[in-house]
Amino acid sequence: MLALAQRDQTLWVGTYNQGVFALDSNGRIQQRVTLPGLVQPLVRALLAEADGTVWIGCADGLYRYRHGSLRHYGTLDGLPPAAAVHALYRDQAGVLWIGTSNGMASLDAAQKLRVWPANAADFPARYVFDFLGDANGDLWIATDHGLLRRRGLSIQAFDHARGLPRDKIFRILDDGQNHLWLSSNQGVFRLDRNDLVGVAAGARAQLAVHVVDHTDGMPSRQTNGASSPSSWMTGQGQLLFATSGGLAVIDPQRVGQQRLQTAPVAIESVIVDGAQQQMRERYQLPSEVERIGVAYSGLGFRAPDKMRYRYRLEGFDADWVDADTRTEAVYTNLPPGSYRLRIQAMALPLDWADAARIGETVLTLEVATPYWRRPWALALLALALIGLVVALISWRTASYRRRQRQLDDEIAVRTQELSEKNRALEQADAERDALLKRLAHQATHDALTGLPNRRAADAHLQLALRDDPASPLTVALVDIDHFKRINDVYGHEVGDRVLRDVAWLLQLQLGEGQFISRHGGEEFLIVLRGMGLSEALPVLQALRTRVARLRLEDVDAEATITVSIGAAERGPEQETTHTLIAAADRQLYRAKNTGRNRVLS
Ligand code: GH3
Ligand code: MG
Ligand code: MG
Repeated sequence: MLALAQRDQTLWVGTYNQGVFALDSNGRIQQRVTLPGLVQPLVRALLAEADGTVWIGCADGLYRYRHGSLRHYGTLDGLPPAAAVHALYRDQAGVLWIGTSNGMASLDAAQKLRVWPANAADFPARYVFDFLGDANGDLWIATDHGLLRRRGLSIQAFDHARGLPRDKIFRILDDGQNHLWLSSNQGVFRLDRNDLVGVAAGARAQLAVHVVDHTDGMPSRQTNGASSPSSWMTGQGQLLFATSGGLAVIDPQRVGQQRLQTAPVAIESVIVDGAQQQMRERYQLPSEVERIGVAYSGLGFRAPDKMRYRYRLEGFDADWVDADTRTEAVYTNLPPGSYRLRIQAMALPLDWADAARIGETVLTLEVATPYWRRPWALALLALALIGLVVALISWRTASYRRRQRQLDDEIAVRTQELSEKNRALEQADAERDALLKRLAHQATHDALTGLPNRRAADAHLQLALRDDPASPLTVALVDIDHFKRINDVYGHEVGDRVLRDVAWLLQLQLGEGQFISRHGGEEFLIVLRGMGLSEALPVLQALRTRVARLRLEDVDAEATITVSIGAAERGPEQETTHTLIAAADRQLYRAKNTGRNRVLS
């Protein structure tokens, strides 16, 4: 037996391979409808209508049984290929909905067939197991892709991604208490209509699903009947579900009434790099720790299977890690630091916003900082660096100073050398100047007496004659008498001394204003500027008498020295150097010849 349908006093029964039977209220078979198609037509869906029509869903499509005759709807009529009919439903608008193993179809009052092929853009499911119409015209569809809601022309899915524990659901019941009940092979799910509306509107991300299963006393949680109806609501409002272990009866009034309790979380083991740790609240771990595994469990004794977990390592995880049913948190290669591992558990239905139902335990994990990152090591490193920098700087400074000293020394040496060279140059300069002066002096002076020589005398006399043409001027030649004798008697050196003495005496007597030179041998030339003969002769006489008093005391106290002097005054006949000196020489000659030791002019 695979399907049941009741209308008035007749119960219609679908079978594997015997077709469909009609039973009266006493259980007697009134008629049997045999299906001409397959050997095993598998009648999984029956719909008995008020006008006596019976719709029969089976492995090779749909049959309409009316007034004793059968009409088949199959692929030729537009039904999807290989579409075994699993569900039949007549909605308020009079449309017959046909759920198949390969999409969905509808047949309206005008016998127009419309098909939703499986896994199409506007129909995400393949298997359709049940329909339920709402008062507002919405149609709920149980599929292998969750619960679908058809509103107008659009179909929306409430599936696993929306919080439904399983995608494949079979039967939909409405308990009249604002809940939909869905059967699955993981128990029965209770959905709140408000919740569905909230999720549909985007106001909520997830459905809060209440799961009823074997932990609540069901004989089995497998309520995956693909025959219809696999569940039913009794007149008293109880919900009946066929399970693989027998019939489950759920009183919707009582479900969810028991106070949902907080499930405390217990740490079962802490394993650090393979080594089981003693239970503590705080774990101090070495810096080189690689793997930390924390096994935990929520103490939900009533329904351990309904425990869900999440955890978060504060200081590491940005958000909660959804562990679902996993009971171990593993972290590898945690950087040094202090962390709080918070592990939370909650029994289904899951709603992490409901803080009152969250059980939590907290562990502190402290991963040590490696020694080389600890403050003292860093300080040491910084000190070492500073030391290095200081050493570098002082080395640089020292080498700079050393270099500076070297440069200074070098500069000093060079300066010394230069100044020495300079001094040498200056000395050489001075020597040269002195030499030049000496040469110049030598050129114009007589070496023995130091008097200007003949050349200088010529120049002087020329200048005197030229520069002062109107002024009187007398020239005198002074010759030592018998000088040859002095040389002969006392020697040439004494002769030299006499020459020097006479020169010195004449110079002294004349004073600074007048000019005297050695004219040659033992002769001297005197130029008396600004003097005519009248003035010059007394001066010359005085010279003569002064020389006559000269004595060679250390040689010969008796010996006397005399001079003869010839003088000539500048005049019209004696206007040049030559004529003037010649005139003086003539007078000198005369003085010699007239007895010597006299002045003639
Ligand atoms: P007089 O009275 O006629 O002038 O006779 P004197 O001997 O002076 O004249 P003389 O011309 O015969 O001789 C001059 C001498 O002076 C000859 C020469 O040897 C000497 N005489 C010339 N120049 C120098 C000198 O520089 N030193 C010395 N010691 N003797 C000199
Ligand atoms: Mg002479
Ligand atoms: Mg002489």
